[in-house]
Amino acid sequence: MIAQVLVELMNKNVDKTFDYLVPSTMQDKITVGIRVKVPFGNRTLEGFVLSLSNDSNYQKLKSIIEIVDDTIVLNEELLDLGKQLKERTLATLISCYQVMLPKALKAKEGVVVPIRYEKMISLKASVPKDIAFSSKQQQIITLLEKGACSKKTLQAISSSSVETLLKKGIITEEKVERYRLMEDAVKAPRYPLTEEQQKVVNQVLAKRNQFVPFLLHGVTGSGKTEVYMEIIETFLKEGKTSIVLVPEISLTPQIVKRFRARFGSVVAILHSRLSEGEKYDEWRKIARGEVSIVIGARSAIFAPLKNIGIIIIDEEHTASYHQENNPRYSAIDVALIRGEKHQCPVLLGSATPTLESFARAERGVYQLLSLPHRVENRPLPKVVVVDLNQTRKKDSFYFSSILLSKIQERIEKQEQVMLLLNRRGYASYLSCPHCGYVVKCPNCDISLTYHKNSNTLRCHYCGYGTKLPTTCPQCKESAMRSIGMGTEKLEEELQKLFPSVGIVRMDYDTTSRKGAHEKIIEDFAQGKYQILLGTQMIAKGLDFPKVTLVGVINADTGLNIPDFRSSENTFQLLDQVAGRSGRGTVAGEVVIQTFNPDHYAIQYAKNHDYLGFYQEEMKIRKQLKYSPYYYMTLVKVASKEEVVARMEIQKIYRSLERNLKSSILLGPTSAGLYKVNNIYYYQIIIKYKKEDALYPTLTKIVDYYKSNSKIKIMIDFHARSFL
Ligand code: ADP
Ligand code: ZN
Repeated sequence: MIAQVLVELMNKNVDKTFDYLVPSTMQDKITVGIRVKVPFGNRTLEGFVLSLSNDSNYQKLKSIIEIVDDTIVLNEELLDLGKQLKERTLATLISCYQVMLPKALKAKEGVVVPIRYEKMISLKASVPKDIAFSSKQQQIITLLEKGACSKKTLQAISSSSVETLLKKGIITEEKVERYRLMEDAVKAPRYPLTEEQQKVVNQVLAKRNQFVPFLLHGVTGSGKTEVYMEIIETFLKEGKTSIVLVPEISLTPQIVKRFRARFGSVVAILHSRLSEGEKYDEWRKIARGEVSIVIGARSAIFAPLKNIGIIIIDEEHTASYHQENNPRYSAIDVALIRGEKHQCPVLLGSATPTLESFARAERGVYQLLSLPHRVENRPLPKVVVVDLNQTRKKDSFYFSSILLSKIQERIEKQEQVMLLLNRRGYASYLSCPHCGYVVKCPNCDISLTYHKNSNTLRCHYCGYGTKLPTTCPQCKESAMRSIGMGTEKLEEELQKLFPSVGIVRMDYDTTSRKGAHEKIIEDFAQGKYQILLGTQMIAKGLDFPKVTLVGVINADTGLNIPDFRSSENTFQLLDQVAGRSGRGTVAGEVVIQTFNPDHYAIQYAKNHDYLGFYQEEMKIRKQLKYSPYYYMTLVKVASKEEVVARMEIQKIYRSLERNLKSSILLGPTSAGLYKVNNIYYYQIIIKYKKEDALYPTLTKIVDYYKSNSKIKIMIDFHARSFL
């Protein structure tokens, strides 16, 4: 027997299978989708068996060395999916398979994640009657008569007794596999669905067993999660499985608990804050068919579930559903491929769908569902827009007097407040008040961020760090001053204004430790703090019924980013964060501070008018020939040598110009992030409605550069940002 093996080597030249002989001892264990170790040149590599055959076109084949895992890691569906993903993203096949698996199952990571075992003790068939046991020993035996027990528990009674009983052969010890992530079931209230919710559920269930993509447009607090759970429950009863994607950042204990409370142990969780061991365990539960529901972030879309009944993508507008490195895939795209394969509905939900998705719904590509009201007729929060041009002169840097008085009011009423500092494209950096010099990273074309805690400057792209200069490195005149606002500074100001109020901050710095993110949310939910302030992290998904005021400190920093999606991103952010207010029984309010009070993104957000925003933004996109009127593909080159990058992008441009007759080419230009970590980036944007030559041309270009080590080509068909 011959096996075709795809080796785990990140080299574009070897992205194909090689033939290996299957030794007779392995014949009955080798199957398609299993991992094996093979000799490759003078190395030993791991790889996936993609197919088996009786003969080979090659002579003198080498033999497989050994089998790595005892079961297959890629089932037939996923093997096939990987091939489609390669075609759609032009990434290597091996990267398409690796993205589907936890690190523990990837050779290139070199991560060794052991399976965790627990020692269990049980009684031998019969306990001899003629032995006199000590009281501790008797206690252990009595306990074991009810069933097996973990060794740890028994050792707590008396570890010497356990040893004696083992030696005498009264009890036996056995290693049992244990999953790491075990949580206690909790109770959560369950509500009868509203008429609107029930209608949505019925519409989806009417199409069960069919591949129908739905877009659920539901305002914040309309009970989308409740709808998801109802649908999932129906499928569960029918013996079918479900995948729910949630943005990484909103995969909080809150949402996990809601699902666990309803469905118990048939739920597996996958997200990046889990340890590698936990991820591996969750993955094995799924692969073994021990769970029916998978909740996770982007890569959970590859969960090896069988018999899928529904795939749900919550907050479908989330940018992180698109992966920014190889393979550059969109989880929505993958959901649609799998939905078709399993002939099941795919449900995309959001209060602020992307323009692309809503346009598809308008054209009938997606079936539109809607939840226009909050549950129990709770009103959407009232939004007050504060013009910073008017207030900054007299009020404090961070807070208008209107916002301050409203915070004060909530504090007196024992309600809670959330404050968002919009950091998109905005950080506090150091500048010389004399000559205007800004301290930049030596490796990247980016200003360094000032960290007050450690009194250092740090690059958020490459991690470079340096001490604060005492005088300006350029003019040597004055001391550098920090410009802009940071969450740290905001917290400090706020604490001065409200010395006796509990304030908690959630940003990149305060959530880097494992479990820290969860703890902040938990503590705030329990009322240990009255004010939660943070970056975009606090905008999504959180459900705190006691929050009645949301303040946006600076609504428009995102508007200044030179990106055609900046209005859309701003509208989404404002609508999402506003949606955190008034989710309980007390009506909520929102204060938006901005220098652009008349900007349409802000005005439509103020009126909770998604449709109005959609229509106005679509006009602009049409005029400027942007997505969704045109598809936009990003071609980037990266090189350590700037000249090489510049020359090659010119070559690529000429090739595209010759071959793509129905496209508009933008560029070539240096990328927005032009130099990162001493690597230079240049780019071209291809705009088209229909371009048959696109894939063949780009495939040729990728192949052409395959063995050129000086330059890397990146192609992104779903790019969310063109910076
Ligand atoms: P969304 O995901 O649309 O923002 P959620 O599903 O989080 O909304 O629901 C918002 C709040 O309303 C939650 O606290 C939820 O428990 C509650 N809720 C959902 N459905 C109902 C219902 N039918 N009756 C009463 N409360 C509900
Ligand atoms: Zn840097």
